[in-house]
Amino acid sequence: MSQPPISQPIPISPSVSLNRQPSTSNRPIRRPSIQGSSYGTAATGSSIVRRPSRAQHPPMQRALTHNEALEALRNFLKERSSYDVFPVSFRLIVLDTQLKVKKALDVMLLYGVVSAPLWNTATAKFAGMFTVQDVIHLIQYYYHTSSWEGATTDVEQFRLHSIRDIEKALVVPPPPLLSVHPLRPLYDACRYLIRTHARRLPLIDRDTQTGGEVVISVLTQYRVLKFIAMNCRDITQYLTASVQEMGIGNYVSPESNPDPTNNPNKYYPLATATMQTTVFDVVHMFSEQGISAVPIVDSEGKVLNLYETVDVITLVRNGAYTSLDLTISQALKQRAVDFPGVVTCSPKDSLSAIFSLIKIRRVHRLVVVQGRDDPNPGKLVGIISLSDIMRALIGHDVPLGGAGVGAEVVDKALREEEAETAGDDSFALSEGSISAGQSLDG
Ligand code: AMP
Repeated sequence: MSQPPISQPIPISPSVSLNRQPSTSNRPIRRPSIQGSSYGTAATGSSIVRRPSRAQHPPMQRALTHNEALEALRNFLKERSSYDVFPVSFRLIVLDTQLKVKKALDVMLLYGVVSAPLWNTATAKFAGMFTVQDVIHLIQYYYHTSSWEGATTDVEQFRLHSIRDIEKALVVPPPPLLSVHPLRPLYDACRYLIRTHARRLPLIDRDTQTGGEVVISVLTQYRVLKFIAMNCRDITQYLTASVQEMGIGNYVSPESNPDPTNNPNKYYPLATATMQTTVFDVVHMFSEQGISAVPIVDSEGKVLNLYETVDVITLVRNGAYTSLDLTISQALKQRAVDFPGVVTCSPKDSLSAIFSLIKIRRVHRLVVVQGRDDPNPGKLVGIISLSDIMRALIGHDVPLGGAGVGAEVVDKALREEEAETAGDDSFALSEGSISAGQSLDG
């Protein structure tokens, strides 16, 4: 079977060995999820007044050690609010829960977003996020309960508020309904993102006149890291330790597999697939392991590509439920033309180099591969997600690390945090909504 080749890595700059491996050709970078425009209508009535910009960190007076640089970054985040991350003017796409799933997917495609806040018009309240995780649940629901043929028609009729019924049917916990006040320190929002394994955190304000909720925007891991990359070059340049040395990400380590007999995986703990694996099997990995991308490797472990949760959106939007039994090789041919390529790095690259990369292009994860000077260039070594980078920056005072953390643990921790901030309503946890842990969204 022919496999789309990954061309030789192209150095981003002569000084770093972070590489971009385009899966096909020189394609344009995907559009950002929030485009510059006017404030969304949902924000009308917000009490927030934009402060004069003070994003840029002032130049450092001396060289910093690695730990001093981390501390300086944390202080930077403590002195900025979540709102500071956003440009003066931006557009927000909010989906009404009455909207049909098909329409929602069309809107998301039109505006180039992969998730959106939900608004319940009946209660005039924020109703959570619609994310790729919901789409994956839909797929699994149809796999278990319906025929492939009926699925496409059903989804045309299905409304967003029914997503929670699907979770019940699948016996998966509903995502905790978290939000943060836009003026809350950015550092707190980051800790929240880490604790809850969320990839995004909606910013909710109160209308000054009615007291009702106002969705301001959605803070993502990517936006936070981009904000740091753009404004803290004077600090990030000192983050010179290698990513593997710092333990950022997850690395191939078959010797630590607790059950190699029943669960053989030569890339343990990484989930991988080959070009012959079916899309459905990969979707199952996403869901089971709470991950959003799976490296595609050849028999020697060389990374050929990456299949991501957002790729599933393309299939479903095309009404292609039957496409789930396609092989990855076939599915990759349906990939959107603006797929930006797989970003790789070597285990010897530094966090400083990664920030330089985030500054110039959209990165959601890096596949760590052996470098050109190693015995097997391009061989899978590990994977670094934005959540791994966030954890490295914010520190390990967050007791909820690790995948698959139990629902009760997250619930308890969040409620404790809520109690700590009693009298300060800026951390808005919606009543009775937290019943589960796991990743919040996709
Ligand atoms: P992500 O889903 O990309 O936000 O990643 C969540 C966590 O899972 C991070 O700690 C990643 O390092 C880890 N991770 C991401 N992809 C994989 C994978 N294919 N196999 C195992 N762990 C992964």
